[in-house]
Amino acid sequence: MSLIPTSEIIRKAKMRGAQRIALQAPEGLKRRLPDLAEELRREGFSVLISGDPCYGACDTAVDALEWADLLIHLGHTPLGDDPRILFEPVCMETEIPPLDRLISLLKGPAIGLISTVQHAPSLPRLADELRKHGFHPVIAAPSPRTPLPGQVLGCTYAAAREAGADELVYFGTGLFHPIGSAIATGRRVITLDPFTGDAGVVETERLLRRRFAVIEKARSADRFGIIVSQKSGQERMRLAEALAALHPRAGIVLLREVSGDQLINLGFPCYVNTACPRLALDDQIRFPVPVLSPPEFEILCGRRKWDDYVIDEIVA
Ligand code: SF4
Repeated sequence: MSLIPTSEIIRKAKMRGAQRIALQAPEGLKRRLPDLAEELRREGFSVLISGDPCYGACDTAVDALEWADLLIHLGHTPLGDDPRILFEPVCMETEIPPLDRLISLLKGPAIGLISTVQHAPSLPRLADELRKHGFHPVIAAPSPRTPLPGQVLGCTYAAAREAGADELVYFGTGLFHPIGSAIATGRRVITLDPFTGDAGVVETERLLRRRFAVIEKARSADRFGIIVSQKSGQERMRLAEALAALHPRAGIVLLREVSGDQLINLGFPCYVNTACPRLALDDQIRFPVPVLSPPEFEILCGRRKWDDYVIDEIVA
């Protein structure tokens, strides 16, 4: 069960002297916003809810600050230092599940522990349990984009890299972050489901084969749209300019939301994505034409070898 720290939010909003509050949350938490808004109104605040899609702390509803004096962004750890934004990560109450299946897969004894914002606060308890079984768990220190120890994002795998062990355990659900961690580090990654205790070794081959095929398909394109995001935490104009310089028929396109319809309407036969790195890798199926990551475009332009494939990350 995820916990929205309502009294903590009210306390912080009062401390900041806020009167008008805008609330923003990712899709999985949006349905909780009407209740939170009511609680805040009972405390005397005026409240509005930002209803637009929100995927990360890189995407804050700054427009709402034309009305509000405080934006409360739920579900993600802080990014940037705008004093008008209060980030409230929402963590899960996670019991450490049975570890038999995980332990049967570990080589050890040194293991790096990584997770996303929801479960990263549970990593020290997981480490305690693993120590009881003779392992030496390491949880990397925070990075500027990932302020929780051991935290990874779809755009930053610093904690996986810094853990300094040959083997990583990803405590969480879903496969994107563990696959990203495995490609980013070249290390063996084992997933541990916090709810079931199910564990498995991550394989990267399928994703890499798919990406190789997308690059090959992109070779027939005669023009390239280099996508630059207008979201504050995703904007990489300098990278886009460097990429555009690699091909005489590459042009920069500013976009707020990247959708299949927009890509069709713009008419490029291939795009290079400098916005959220997840878009090219996770969402290709939604796109009508190849969408390459920056390192993939370097491969296509002959500036990087396939053997030097790296996952795209945003350096804060
Ligand atoms: S850039 Fe993408 S992966 Fe990174 S925080 Fe934003 S939505 Fe998440």
